Amino acid sequence: MSVADNIQHFVEEEIPSHVKLIAVSKTKPVETILDAYNAGYRVFGENKVQELLEKYEELPKDIEWHMIGHLQSNKVKYIAPFVAMIHGVDKFKLLKVINKEGRKNNRKIDCLLQFHIAKEETKFGLDLDEAKEFLVSPEYNDLEHVNVRGVMGMASFTENTDLIRNEFKELVYIFNELKKQYFQNKENFSKISMGMSNDYRIAIEEGANIIRIGSLLFGPRNY
Ligand SMILES: *Cc1c(COP(=O)(O)O)cnc(C)c1O
Repeated sequence: MSVADNIQHFVEEEIPSHVKLIAVSKTKPVETILDAYNAGYRVFGENKVQELLEKYEELPKDIEWHMIGHLQSNKVKYIAPFVAMIHGVDKFKLLKVINKEGRKNNRKIDCLLQFHIAKEETKFGLDLDEAKEFLVSPEYNDLEHVNVRGVMGMASFTENTDLIRNEFKELVYIFNELKKQYFQNKENFSKISMGMSNDYRIAIEEGANIIRIGSLLFGPRNY
């Protein structure tokens, strides 16, 4: 099956309609993305700024690009003009830089707060207290060019499905806490981005409404 077939099958058969699929095209050539595009798919995710920029330049401009990887503050300016959503906001400082670049580009940039839910030290992310601290600050309140739409997280890379499930439950708990305390009347705060090729089913069961799938659609990656 082609990548386009994989995506179509995935969207039509594998996931409920309230769940948004981000086709994670990192390391894959523009030709492959274009095949999927020509079959009608528009939502792609990348985890490196340089690669995202190159693909953005070469591909049709109505693609909805999601930045899903770790993002350094000094690189925000490159993607701020066009990025649809930044999933990995793991520091208040980064959110402030995104706001600044959003202002320059006269737009409001959708963001997700990334939380550290895995037991692995290597993964990035906030913890709940850290997020609470800046969400109550006047400085946060003044950010007019970011739209905090929800949360993102990555579970541990493990065969242990109970552990994965518990980590996803933790992210949903965090989402609900934030919703209750800071986003009660903000309909916009509604996104839970969790689940990859090996754990998306569990993620959907636990409440994901955005999943980020790479290898299952595009085949394995060679780094
Ligand atoms: C690579 C990546 C994915 C997709 O991973 P697969 O296991 O190939 O589905 C999802 N989210 C993030 C943040 C990634 O870097």
